[in-house]
Amino acid sequence: MKTIKAIVANWKMNHLRADAEAFCSKFVAEYTQKTGIAVGIAPPYPYLELVGSRLKDSGVLLFAQNGLDKPKGAYTGEVSMVQLKDIGCYGVILGHSERRQYYGETEATLVPKIISARENDLLPLLCVGESLAQRESNEILEVISRQLAILSQVGAGSIWIAYEPIWAIGTGRVATPAQVEEVHVFIRKEMIRLLGEPGKDIPILYGGSVTPENATELLQTPEVAGGLVGGASLDPEKFHQLVTQAQK
Ligand code: PEP
Repeated sequence: MKTIKAIVANWKMNHLRADAEAFCSKFVAEYTQKTGIAVGIAPPYPYLELVGSRLKDSGVLLFAQNGLDKPKGAYTGEVSMVQLKDIGCYGVILGHSERRQYYGETEATLVPKIISARENDLLPLLCVGESLAQRESNEILEVISRQLAILSQVGAGSIWIAYEPIWAIGTGRVATPAQVEEVHVFIRKEMIRLLGEPGKDIPILYGGSVTPENATELLQTPEVAGGLVGGASLDPEKFHQLVTQAQK
């Protein structure tokens, strides 16, 4: 199997209904689906269904930004994987650094989330990445290895990985191709060590201040199978440019 390429938009807590509608109309009008490259959009929860309906038949995949592993019940403020599947999600971003940093997401909470996503036929898009302090103290590979170790608990199965150095997220400070390559090659080795043969085909996306200006170089970096894009994904024209570059 050849590793699929993918570009996924993470809108985080941005856009209102009218913005989401305008984005979809513009993007869908320009977008042409190409084989081998998947395109996804992860809107905030309130607009998932709206964006899903506007993306219908376009081939663009709907992602959620988080989900809970419990199927239903007294979990005020949470949304289950069952519900995400029910409204048409294809996948779910898990372990984004903002969720790790602000909402106490840990390796222990991520294991049941990955399992629940898979049980509900949702693709988990697992984010890993080091902080600036960890990079400066040369702990990068150790941190990534610890974050990936949960793969041995969840086993082989559907998953995409996004390497997102925290210091590059939303800062405009993009990692250099050499920095990205070093970590992506390491992630590939870790996945093969932890999962065996299936670890060879899991797509590894890069995220952190990706823009149309730097995307081509990043996308050509060995082991980079695409991007998870925050800021530049809010503008339909910029996001379309990114998608077009990935399709080349
Ligand atoms: C992200 O939040 O996943 C991200 C990569 O954001 P940005 O592109 O804005 O750095």
